[in-house]
Amino acid sequence: MSDSMRVSIGDLADSSRVDDERALLASLPTGVFVGGEWRASSDGATFAVTDPSTGETLLDIADATPDDGEAALAAAHGAQREWARTAPRERAEILRRAFDLVTARADDFALLMTLEMGKPLAEARGEVAYGAEFLRWFSEEASRISGRYATAPDGRSRLLVTKRPVGPSLFITPWNFPLAMATRKIAPAIAAGCTMVLKPAALTPLTSLLFATVLEEAGLPAGVLNIVQTTRAGAVTGPLIRDPRLKKLSFTGSTGVGTRLIADAAEQVLRVSMELGGNAPLLVFDDADLDQAVDGAMLAKLRNGGEACTAANRLIVHEAVLDEFTDRLVARMRTHTIARGTAPDSKIGPLVDEGTRTKVHELVEDAVASGATIALGGRAVPGSGWFYEPTVLTGLAPDARILHEEIFGPVAPIVSFATEEEAVELANDTEFGLVAYAFTKDLARGLRLSEELDVGMFGLNTGIVSNPAAPFGGVKQSGLGREGGFEGIEEYLETRYVGIADPFGV
Ligand code: NAP
Repeated sequence: MSDSMRVSIGDLADSSRVDDERALLASLPTGVFVGGEWRASSDGATFAVTDPSTGETLLDIADATPDDGEAALAAAHGAQREWARTAPRERAEILRRAFDLVTARADDFALLMTLEMGKPLAEARGEVAYGAEFLRWFSEEASRISGRYATAPDGRSRLLVTKRPVGPSLFITPWNFPLAMATRKIAPAIAAGCTMVLKPAALTPLTSLLFATVLEEAGLPAGVLNIVQTTRAGAVTGPLIRDPRLKKLSFTGSTGVGTRLIADAAEQVLRVSMELGGNAPLLVFDDADLDQAVDGAMLAKLRNGGEACTAANRLIVHEAVLDEFTDRLVARMRTHTIARGTAPDSKIGPLVDEGTRTKVHELVEDAVASGATIALGGRAVPGSGWFYEPTVLTGLAPDARILHEEIFGPVAPIVSFATEEEAVELANDTEFGLVAYAFTKDLARGLRLSEELDVGMFGLNTGIVSNPAAPFGGVKQSGLGREGGFEGIEEYLETRYVGIADPFGV
């Protein structure tokens, strides 16, 4: 380990905190949630959710079977007609109450996410605020669903265009943002009048279970939201995707799984939204404010320990500022304390599991084998938990795997460029197109980049773009559709057109 890097894993022994953790875990439901009831899985199976800081079991919970999946879809289908008829204002008020309840219980949600996913508590609190905002935003959108009435161009008929809820929807979510990835789908679906089945990631299902209790308390009717946490993802969701009662699939996760689900969904021409992987470039031009660029790079690289689809995967820096930017980034990353997320000084928690850490280290080793230099870090932290040192790599070969694959860890590969054209070419050299970042004081250049970069989102002089009021999503293999913003509710609405004879009978 680099001598001056701070590692503090001593928080594990704090007894009052351990009591808080135990009390929170003991308060959670452990069943699958179907038709408004918590029940054991149909075969009685359970699975353990573990703490990535220690590898210890947090809680054993029901492991849903394909029969439970079927029951959940039946409940969603059964509740759909009545739910679609509720007043938009009623759906809005349920969402608003849910926002208030999540906000009031922010500490519980944050602690739970830290326990099951590993992120530092400060980041978990940030996710609670972000995740809750989707509830507030879509509570405001629920009563703004509208249509139009128009006279046909030839004047001989009338056109009535309305929006209808799509219908029962299946949500499959990843482990990296256990609350926000769920609320980004659930909130617009509630606003639009859709019922749903949620299959959270097996690594982090507990946050969804707590969230379901909040929605119950907020008055969500039975059957509108059903949850089937499982270790048998394909076996449980496959039959649902082929079931004609299902009308929509929204998936957030890897491009590999997403493309297989798109193929499955094609069988019944199921509507899909896909929030998939990323390989974000972060460009630093020679006219950039370097303080701002380093701040932005820290945020874009180390938010969630690098385990974010929006993480800066490639830092592409103008050759005139390469050395200074690298030195400053190394100095900042070195100060990040690596510790269990519950430790007050934790800035970097563990990676989510052993496989993730192994992959991160393999990418670093591959880069070094092809000529890269380690400017900081480069090693797993010994001892319990899946900790990895914040790492900076320079002098990378263009074909190093780390420049082409999603890293999902706290590793910053830096490459250089000489001209704006070269920077754009490097940035677009990926099959992904989720987000890009650029730092420059030249507004015209910033606007050129916003048009030239092949991405769904672009951060200009900022290292973060996520905002519930903005449409989140990517192009190319980063996905289909948008979550959040005015656009987010459209994913759950179907357009219906009614042709009407000329009421004047002309
Ligand atoms: P993942 O392995 O693709 O898993 C995502 C979800 O799909 C999990 O719930 C997983 O269940 C489930 N799943 C896996 N195989 C399945 C199958 N055959 N059929 C149905 N469901 C299946 O992704 P992850 O490792 O959890 O998350 C990281 C990925 O998500 C990264 O690529 C990241 O970029 C992407 N992501 C994208 C966004 C975005 O908005 N674009 C946001 C966050 C994350 P199990 O838990 O049981 O495996």
